[in-house]
Amino acid sequence: MLVSSKQMVLEARAKKYAIGCFNTSDLEITKAIIAAAEAQKSPVIISTSPKAIEYAGLKTLAAIIKEEAQKSKVPVALHLDHGLTLSLIESCLENGYTSIMFDGSGSELEHNEILTRQAVEMTHAEDVPCEGELGHLGKAGKSKSRLTDPNDVIDFVQKTGVDFLAVSLGSEHGIGENEALDIKLLGKINSLTGVPLVLHGASGVADKNIKEAMSNGIAKVNIDTDIRHTFSDSMRQVLTKNTRENDPREILTKVMADIQKLIEKKIRIFGSDHKI
Ligand SMILES: [Zn+2]
Repeated sequence: MLVSSKQMVLEARAKKYAIGCFNTSDLEITKAIIAAAEAQKSPVIISTSPKAIEYAGLKTLAAIIKEEAQKSKVPVALHLDHGLTLSLIESCLENGYTSIMFDGSGSELEHNEILTRQAVEMTHAEDVPCEGELGHLGKAGKSKSRLTDPNDVIDFVQKTGVDFLAVSLGSEHGIGENEALDIKLLGKINSLTGVPLVLHGASGVADKNIKEAMSNGIAKVNIDTDIRHTFSDSMRQVLTKNTRENDPREILTKVMADIQKLIEKKIRIFGSDHKI
């Protein structure tokens, strides 16, 4: 069923596991994520970035995910990842999103607070939770990260009313290997707020660090890069093995199976399996 992300993340926060938030931009990845969640009896968040929305079209992408979610046996939330404008948030709410992230972390703190507050008011009016970002998670080769300053946490959470808080602890978007997390900083942030914390750029973070993060307040973990790598590697493998294969359905069935395997593994690491 299609549900809000609020309850599933709060429950994970209370029991010290995490909900996987997996990015999709198409039918195949969406089906693989839901199949994995069903196999592992896990709640799941399906995430769409502005780039994915631009690629597939908002209405089309939302319709695919909502349809697959509604017929699923597990709770599925439809999430906007890194919404940068209030107008995109409005469009997503109109299209039935059940979870929103507004990312004002590219702006100065004060501006981030004002915009995030507005985003929260918009989503709460529709009974949809809103995630904000404090500090900044950079993107490999594109923008620099700024660690979350613990001195800003209490004020930001109170002023904005965010339901979840994305924190910057040293991981980055788009890396996919050997990323260190500042667990001491996370522990400090976690001692300041009861709001569930969110780990982005987690594809390259070692399993043991993810587990440490979950015992320090991380209750939602975002995975994108790993999925894209698995998709591409799997497709390359199929086409290299069988150079005459020309049926997209045959190719993509193998790709979906490999993505499902990856997501199931992540769900077990996050500890959200067998919670349904
Ligand atoms: Zn992110």
